[in-house]
Parts: sequence; structure tokens; C-alpha cells
Amino acid sequence: MPRPDYQQARWYGAHSGNYSTANRPSSNPINRIVLHITEGSWSSAINWFNDSRAQVSAHYVVRSSDGFIGQCVEEKDIAWHAGNWPVNQTSIGIEHEGFGNDPKWMTSALYDSSARLSAYLCRKYNVPIRHAQSASEQGFLLHRQVTSTACPGRYFDIAHYLNRVRSYTQHRQVVDNANSNRFRASGAWGTSSYSSQRYGSDYRFANPSSNNDPAMFKIRIPRRGRYRIFAWWPALPGYNPRTPIAIQTASGWQRVFVNQRQNGGRWNLLGTFEMAAGDGWWIRIQRSSPQPNGGYVIADAVRVVEVV
Ligand SMILES: [Zn+2]
Repeated sequence: MPRPDYQQARWYGAHSGNYSTANRPSSNPINRIVLHITEGSWSSAINWFNDSRAQVSAHYVVRSSDGFIGQCVEEKDIAWHAGNWPVNQTSIGIEHEGFGNDPKWMTSALYDSSARLSAYLCRKYNVPIRHAQSASEQGFLLHRQVTSTACPGRYFDIAHYLNRVRSYTQHRQVVDNANSNRFRASGAWGTSSYSSQRYGSDYRFANPSSNNDPAMFKIRIPRRGRYRIFAWWPALPGYNPRTPIAIQTASGWQRVFVNQRQNGGRWNLLGTFEMAAGDGWWIRIQRSSPQPNGGYVIADAVRVVEVV
């Protein structure tokens, strides 16, 4: 018995005559998600896909009351759900329990659980998170966009749904100075745990210097887009009021100055920047403060949050 592709789902399978075996995504790309409504109970949909007479199937079926997900067809295989062969070949079909003329089935649990499933699929197959305007576009499709049907009914709110998908794919990353794979500093940077406002167990400090000698945090950007960049430092009256921080953005290095005598022990927004995809962009805390007698510059932690 196959294991579910999606860990939060339970495997129910389908009759072998109700779908086509394949070897996606190598045999066919997966770049669409088609949204359906069952027009019946969750269990009746699961049972029907296991009935040899059905000649239909979907990969996943989401229950209205609690968002529970059953998987009936492996993602590598082609489920028969769209009534449109090119779309079937390149899509994942998700059934939502309910009736298209009754909004009460569109519960928060249903939207939430299905959106988490779609977020997982989008990350796995790089499906664009957008409402496709026709069957030839990649992204999310309502079933009625690709064949003659009312499915998934009048009450499926795809804009709301896609916002949830975006929130679940939002990239967030924290890099602390203790992360030896992602942090570098020369021996001129001391290590301290003096301030209780530190992030993690300790932080690094250095005297200002005209030779720059930055402490460097390496960040990962999963896809091009806008990201909010934050820094955390412990604040003390003896720390530098004009610490330079340089951020490697899609348009080159952007530099900001922060006052490390204030706003300690919390995330401070450095700015929102257009960033290019890749794992190996840097945020540098520089020693080249315009106030060389202003006290230590501090490197403690940085944080990246995708704008969705
Ligand atoms: Zn449908």
C-alpha cells in the first residue's frame, strides 16, 4: 500500500481503473492545482473513487468539518478529475467536501487544511500561487474553468484561499551568530554573553575600524521577491550609535545605519528589499562606523521574512 505523499494525509487509494499510472513530474510536469467540490459527503467521494464504475478520481479529498485529508491517487499518477486530459496530465486534483449551492460547507477548517496542502504542493512542484485565467496557464484553476461544470460552486472563495496558501509558503529564516554554517567573523570580533538582551547564548562585538572587517550572516532566499530584513542586538549605552549594516539585494549592496544604544532585545526592521533567489546572500555588520569612538558594533542575529 502506498504511503501518502503528504504526511498529514491518510492513504485510501482508488480503483486501478479510475486513474492513469505515470511517473510525474519526470513524465509530465505538475504545474496546476484544480479545485473541486464533492457534491456529496467526504466518505462518499472516497468510496466512489474506489468503485470500478466511477471512471473518476482525485488525488486528495478534504473533509469539511475538521479539514481531515484522504489521499486516493499518488501524485506521480494522473487522476481523472478535470474532464480535460491536458489539464489532468499536469495537475493535482483536490476535492473539497460540500455542495456547491450551500456555503456552510466552506468552513475555516476546510480552507485552512486545503491551503496547507496546496502550500506543500507549490513548494514541491513550483506551482505558481496565482489564479490561472485559463486552462493553458499554470497556477490554480477552478474546475469550471476547464470543462462544462458548476464545480466547485458559487461559494469557493479562491482569493481568500490563495492568500492562505501564500501565508503558508511564506519564507522565514533566522540566522544567529552561533550558527557556524551561516556566520563568519574574524578573530577581532570578541564573544560575549554580558547582556541579557542577547539572542541565543551569546553575541559578537568589535571596536569600530576603518578596515571594515564585517561580521557576516549568510541568508537563503527561496525565490525572487520582496523580503523584510531585521536585525537583533543587545543595547547598551556604550555600544555604537551608527553601526553600518550592508544587505546584499537584487540591485546590489544596500547600507543602513542602526543605533545599538537603543531598541535592544527585539527584532528591528532594517528595510524591505527586492532579493534574488539563492542560498549565499550576505548581511554584513561592518566595523566602519562613522562614529569610530562611539563604542562596540554588535553582531547577534538577523531575520528574513518574505512579503506575501
Ligand atoms: Zn470538480
